[in-house]
Amino acid sequence: MSAAPSLAENGREQAFDVVVVGAGFAGMYMLHRLRELGFSVRVFEQGSDVGGTWYWNRYPGARCDVESMQYSYSFSDELQQEWEWSERYAPQSEILKYARHVAERFGLRTDIVFNTRIERAEFDEGDSAWEVTTSDGRTVRARFVVFATGCLSNARMPDIKGLAGFAGQVYHTGHWPHEGVDFSGKRVGVIGTGSSSIQSVPVIAEQASHLFVFQRTPNFSIPARNAALTADERDAFRRNYPEIRRFAREEARNGIYAEPPDRGALDDGENTRRDKYEQRWTKGGLTFMLAYNNLLLDKAANDTAADFVRDKIAEIVKDPETARRLQPDNHPIGTKRICVDTDYYAAFNRPNVTLVDIRSTGIEEIRPHAVRVAARDYEIDALVLATGFDAMTGSLAKIDIRGRGGRTLNQKWTEGPKTYLGLMSEGFPNLFIITGPGSPSVLSNMIVSIEQHVDWIADCLAFLRKRTMTTMEANREAEEQWVAHVNDVAHQTLYPQANSWYMGANIPGKPRIFMPYIGGVGAYRKICDDVAAKGYDGFTMTAKAAERVAATS
Ligand code: NAP
Repeated sequence: MSAAPSLAENGREQAFDVVVVGAGFAGMYMLHRLRELGFSVRVFEQGSDVGGTWYWNRYPGARCDVESMQYSYSFSDELQQEWEWSERYAPQSEILKYARHVAERFGLRTDIVFNTRIERAEFDEGDSAWEVTTSDGRTVRARFVVFATGCLSNARMPDIKGLAGFAGQVYHTGHWPHEGVDFSGKRVGVIGTGSSSIQSVPVIAEQASHLFVFQRTPNFSIPARNAALTADERDAFRRNYPEIRRFAREEARNGIYAEPPDRGALDDGENTRRDKYEQRWTKGGLTFMLAYNNLLLDKAANDTAADFVRDKIAEIVKDPETARRLQPDNHPIGTKRICVDTDYYAAFNRPNVTLVDIRSTGIEEIRPHAVRVAARDYEIDALVLATGFDAMTGSLAKIDIRGRGGRTLNQKWTEGPKTYLGLMSEGFPNLFIITGPGSPSVLSNMIVSIEQHVDWIADCLAFLRKRTMTTMEANREAEEQWVAHVNDVAHQTLYPQANSWYMGANIPGKPRIFMPYIGGVGAYRKICDDVAAKGYDGFTMTAKAAERVAATS
């Protein structure tokens, strides 16, 4: 299909059926699907290559926390049969290599413009099209715009006194230098103890002459048990991919194939329960939380799992005071993204690693050669900020997105993100978000959720084209009901009890709303499929001619 006539005839600027923002895993697959359907597409990517989060997050120890045989595209059986993952949890460099391979294999690069940020996107109501402005001042038009900008892409710099005056190098884990960093012989400070820190601390500890870890909130972490994948293990996955992928899409809550729990934690006696936790701990990884089916619903059940991990920390960490400080005590286990590590707690047994508790005092100031806490200077040569992201909404908020009547998305979302199904927002016609707030996104294996959204959007655009519809928009009522439903489901769980980035709690001033949809990827997919089967129930579709009639009547 060529661009819609009103766009193609508009000789002033380039015109496409669809502009996609971002060339991570979501943007790449969106491009592939839309091209297959014959749409004209242009993708804009601010990085110099594909890969999204795996392009930016190059910190030491960066790995996926979902097994690579599952954290991979399923849309091409040839691809999943031929790609050789080397380890259970591939390192960042290998995931990036995979993204590059996909770009080459499916010839995606020809339609991706690299090193180009989208600064502004404005809906032209007269033309039912988006005008998109790039960082180099060019504008392009597209009937549809798809934001594939990622949920954890907007690195957050902490507001700490004196940071700008630090004399050594400052690195953010989410924006790591491509050439890598050698910390050999250096005194290093790491601020933050989330997943990025927990992965990087053991690796930096091996290089640094001394490592200070500044911890505000301890997190629960489960050993990854990473290891090289054997040919037999790879083959078992490949043979069983049809069932593994089906289960991940349709049955698993989190998009991961794993043995589901059949009972609650309090249904077992203490010894049996401990054995089950021990088995999960030995197996390693995120599926620890699948030991029982009520760990995120019942605080007493959750306490049993949290106590088990706290006991493990006390067993591993030799100094009792350090162990006590590393034991999380202010949120139920799993209500903040659980971390997956390789020797994180053991790193604190090294003589060159010091945990600095900043929970009660905070960091007083960063001085040119030190981090000052409670009137004491911890002297360092380099500083690593593992301080996270403005999650889920941050990368959209940085773009000046204007919908009907010139209203910006930021204005609409002042009290928190509002979407219908996490896919569209009322007042912003023809704008789709991949894994947006209000969808399972970060609570799931991201690739499963990405593929589901891309397929839904691609089918939807083909539907619109077939019926010569030019505009699609979420209805306010459907959106309000969905937002209420997302909140209701969240509040039936323990999740809102934690001050997590799921709630926007890590960003001062950000509204406290539980952003991802907890209902599970299988249930969510069914809802989206039902909406489509009912002719996109809850959305309004219009044809251009009909709009003109409406406008003049
Ligand atoms: P994060 O979980 O948001 O952790 C940020 C850390 O920085 C927290 O410990 C936070 O403390 C601390 N912090 C922030 N501002 C601070 C300040 N001003 N002073 C002191 N401490 C401060 O960020 P992340 O570790 O980058 O992880 C974010 C998410 O990315 C993860 O939850 C996960 O979903 C994803 N991720 C995945 C992987 C993987 O696949 N393996 C790896 C890395 C990240 P508080 O908790 O007290 O706010």
